[in-house]
Amino acid sequence: MRYYSTRGKNESAGFAQAALAGLAQDGGLFVPQEIPPYPRAVRTSLGTMDFRDIAFETVKLYCGDDIPDAALAGIAQTAFSFDAPLVSVGGRQVLELFHGPSAAFKDFGARFMARAFAYLRRGEDAPLHILTATSGDTGGAVAEGFFEVPGINVTVLYPKGRVTPLQEKQIAGLGKNIRALAVEGSFDDCQRLVKTALTDSDLARRGAAARRGAALTSANSINICRLIPQAVYYAAAAGRGGGGASFAVPCGNLGNLTAGIYAMKMGAPIAGFVAAANANRAVPDYLATGQYKPRPSVATISNAMDVGAPSNFERIAAHFSHEQLRSFVAGFSVTDDQTRQTIAKVYEESGYILDPHGAVAWHAATAAGQAALGEKMPVTLCTAHPAKFAQTVEPICGAVPVPDSLAGAMRREARAQTIPADYAAFADIL
Ligand SMILES: *Cc1c(COP(=O)(O)O)cnc(C)c1O
Repeated sequence: MRYYSTRGKNESAGFAQAALAGLAQDGGLFVPQEIPPYPRAVRTSLGTMDFRDIAFETVKLYCGDDIPDAALAGIAQTAFSFDAPLVSVGGRQVLELFHGPSAAFKDFGARFMARAFAYLRRGEDAPLHILTATSGDTGGAVAEGFFEVPGINVTVLYPKGRVTPLQEKQIAGLGKNIRALAVEGSFDDCQRLVKTALTDSDLARRGAAARRGAALTSANSINICRLIPQAVYYAAAAGRGGGGASFAVPCGNLGNLTAGIYAMKMGAPIAGFVAAANANRAVPDYLATGQYKPRPSVATISNAMDVGAPSNFERIAAHFSHEQLRSFVAGFSVTDDQTRQTIAKVYEESGYILDPHGAVAWHAATAAGQAALGEKMPVTLCTAHPAKFAQTVEPICGAVPVPDSLAGAMRREARAQTIPADYAAFADIL
């Protein structure tokens, strides 16, 4: 499989090269030259296959020979060491994606990526330096995924004061090979700093001199290596759901939605998607008008979705026209009030506790899903455990039981360095 840049077909790379580079030299994102179809035998047995076997069959189509089957099978077994159950809530279905160590769906991508990187860098002397911008949950998943992985150092940038105290502990509480920077700005500022560093050839030269060839890369969902493993739970859920399912996806940087679209185009039995946004509504507006207008992000109670200029939009636009996209994606924007009301209503009616991100998706599924897609009620993707957002959820539902993974993180102390949202300051630290 070859990958090319969203900004020009001239730059092409294999899987290992695209994964380790993160971003193409021209600043674009790597996309596969085609979305590979599942072999028929896999497509017809998605409903009965083990989750880890689906992971292997999915990722294999993208890695080519860069990760041989035996190594890939091992990576799939250890990366996806937890489940993604499809549960019934009030006559609808919820896909719970928060059973990994950081209690958010980003564990799927981050854990696969950490293991794939460790494999691709085997035998290298110089450490690999990973830069990651996070609006909240990526940082925790990446920190957990890469913690103590030999030969890899990680720097996580997050918007100071805009992540929850628990998210901050997950990002800044591990230490060792994980460095945390609290940026005085928004998530979009963090993302800009990372993108600038990755395309800064001057920095690369200085870094190479200082650290004897240490390479810089990113672990955001702009990295193809994090995106692809997220297609796995869509394929598994669609298979188990008997086909024809659509999914309501709580959208931020659009990695999750892009991965779902990949799963559909690979041949998983998926009818369509609801792109559920909070007040950051660039995507629903694009779907409605055909005009894509990135804008500054707005702070909401579903903070992992506070993205005004979603970076994976570029990927989606490289694959599909506005018309094509509208034929299988409906958009909907949900307010904070509607999010709280949804948490309250679902809790009263069924005793189920939604986190704010899942609640955005639930509400969007109700409001837009059936009307737009004309199918069964979409499956709601629940991307984080509600205990991660206790300050929003507990006033509505009372105490939320805390999973073991989070209880461990809560005992840590956050140790981050604060920096201004300024590239010169960031480059100095690097
Ligand atoms: C990151 C995140 C999202 C947004 O996902 P994208 O892939 O960036 O669109 C939604 N919910 C939670 C809990 C997240 O952590």
